[in-house]
Amino acid sequence: MTYQQTLRWGELFLQEKGIDDAKTDAWLLLALACHTERNDYYLHMLEDVPKEQKEAYETVLKKRAEHIPLQHITGEQEFMGLPFLVNADVLIPRQDTEILVEEALKKAKPGMKILDLCTGSGCIIISMLKYRPDLYGTASDLSAAALRVAEKNAKINKVTPVFVQGDLFEPVEGAFDMIISNPPYIPTAEIEKLMPEVRKYEPFLALDGKEDGLAFYKRIIEEGYSYLNPGGYLLFEIGYDQGKEVSVRMEQAGYQGVKVIKDLAGLDRVVIGGKHV
Ligand code: GLN
Repeated sequence: MTYQQTLRWGELFLQEKGIDDAKTDAWLLLALACHTERNDYYLHMLEDVPKEQKEAYETVLKKRAEHIPLQHITGEQEFMGLPFLVNADVLIPRQDTEILVEEALKKAKPGMKILDLCTGSGCIIISMLKYRPDLYGTASDLSAAALRVAEKNAKINKVTPVFVQGDLFEPVEGAFDMIISNPPYIPTAEIEKLMPEVRKYEPFLALDGKEDGLAFYKRIIEEGYSYLNPGGYLLFEIGYDQGKEVSVRMEQAGYQGVKVIKDLAGLDRVVIGGKHV
């Protein structure tokens, strides 16, 4: 079979197995298994695929057909135009989270100390430090396994945040000019309704926002105030229906100028508030 026929066959196979982005994924997995890229593919698409490559392609297609996320098979995900390693110990970085990073970068002034809570893959703090080498970063996570991934990602991207392991602020010392977090925010009962890629293969710990999904916001809003320098900011990613509840809680806790920011789909995505000077 030629590369072209093999790709078509891969697309149909994934489609039959009910994979949403069958066409895109069939291509990306072909690129992975055959070490090819678009230009190469067009040059060689009428040539036969060697046996080892065909077998390698079948192996990764079968994994994807079991709803293993594409990124767990390729081992990577791009975020803010930067490469990040991922595995089953961390949440796969989402494009929506780029809105949070962009808002944080707008507020960041030279020399600011940034704290990223529930850092997971480290995508938030690492991309902030990469684009703004004038910032200082600390990041915590409860999961030691997640921090191992974050440390590798920091190395790949050549930035040096301080990683600490523990429950939110517990391992953290000192005060910060910005606290940023994309914490787990899905109500426990909702998790089983998510797509299999997420509910079966992404870490439960990174998804579970407890009964009402707001458990981490409540704690971070309350505990965070004393870790913020005057004039500092608290920024969260939130679920589309959590804007009101999170912003009201921030106002009640004394944060000022609290505002909800929408994502590209027009849904509430980020909440930001400041501590008075
Ligand atoms: N902060 C990481 C991210 O945004 C992980 C978030 C999480 O585990 N809930 O991707």
